[in-house]
Amino acid sequence: MEQNKKITIIGGGLSGLTLAYLLHTKNISATILEASSRLGGRIQTVKGENGTPLELGATWFSDVHLNLVALLKRLGLEKFPQYAKGKSLFQTKSFEPPQEFYIPEAQTPSYRIAGGTQSLIDTLFENIKPEQIKLNRKVVSIKEIDGGLEVESENGETLTTDKVVLCLPPQLIGSQIEFSPRLPNEISTVLPSVQTWMAGSIKFVLEYSEPFWRENGYSGMLYSHAGIVTEMYDHTNYEENKFGFTGFLNSGTSVYTKAVRKELVLKQLAKLLGNSAATPLAYHEKVWTDEFILSGNQTINRPHQNNGHPTFQEPYMNGKLYFSGTETLLEFSGYMEGAVLSAKRTFEKIIA
Ligand SMILES: Cc1cc2nc3c(=O)[nH]c(=O)nc-3n(C[C@H](O)[C@H](O)[C@H](O)COP(=O)(O)OP(=O)(O)OC[C@H]3O[C@@H](n4cnc5c(N)ncnc54)[C@H](O)[C@@H]3O)c2cc1C
Repeated sequence: MEQNKKITIIGGGLSGLTLAYLLHTKNISATILEASSRLGGRIQTVKGENGTPLELGATWFSDVHLNLVALLKRLGLEKFPQYAKGKSLFQTKSFEPPQEFYIPEAQTPSYRIAGGTQSLIDTLFENIKPEQIKLNRKVVSIKEIDGGLEVESENGETLTTDKVVLCLPPQLIGSQIEFSPRLPNEISTVLPSVQTWMAGSIKFVLEYSEPFWRENGYSGMLYSHAGIVTEMYDHTNYEENKFGFTGFLNSGTSVYTKAVRKELVLKQLAKLLGNSAATPLAYHEKVWTDEFILSGNQTINRPHQNNGHPTFQEPYMNGKLYFSGTETLLEFSGYMEGAVLSAKRTFEKIIA
């Protein structure tokens, strides 16, 4: 591909940023149009009162995620295993005492990224030119014009480009972007039924001054069918000097206010782990239902539905429009590995 061709990437999540980074290594500059006011998409790390990196989005990966692990290595980022030593808890029913269990050491470990998953996003950003990124640009239309494509954002801004790569959940493409001429029926009818991994989930984080659960012999791991917290893990940082938990809340509680959810979380944890759990330094949560992950009428029946559909593998608009992003692959779809792998595959198609 000629280096002066203009490439526009829609979506500044892991797949869009990885693609921009890979192109940058070949001296090909791409522009990223991102709808929200921040980069990262489904990766979002916030800091607690003590500066503990707390994950509201993607957190864990393993050795089978070869492309993600290779990317972290290439960018000089460290990984570390999820803490799992000590007693873990399983709450079956609210009126039964929790069951205690131990995770065997030999199991394939789950890893986290030192400094928080956001450091992957920040490092990719540092490795491409900042002027390549335009935030608050929700793309609403893509039109085929003489020799190229015209991309329009919600604020009325348009840009012309040679190629467009869509790096956002396919379901959002179907509900947010108008194509002229229209996409073929084979693909446009599939878009509303492509499940977006983790859409609708609620992630919470807690920060504490001391790891009181570790001192009492607990791993911090909890699974529950009885309380608002359905899954929870120790969230101590890489340096082991900042402490907390992260996990998921029952998604049915999205109808409650944040204050009500927080109260229910602290009550459940105080009962299981003691009163120290009731006084965190910080509580944050995210209900993943905003316009950057979910919109329109979904027709979804099962997890990963229509992920990696064959229609995503072909370019459209006479070879100028590509589908990328974690949901476009069959392998590791929905996960960070899928986002990185899709960027790699699209990069190879573009430079061919
Ligand atoms: C709560 C939660 C927990 C998770 N946990 C894990 C985990 O532990 N391990 C793991 O591997 N994966 C996990 N994931 C999944 C992981 O985050 C995703 O696989 C990955 O981040 C997807 O990257 P992406 O670039 O394909 O899509 P996204 O991150 O969704 O990026 C798409 C981007 O497009 C933008 N956008 C949307 N509409 C438009 C528009 N019209 N115009 C311009 N831009 C637009 C969005 O704002 C977003 O920034 C989790 C996800 C969530 C939400």
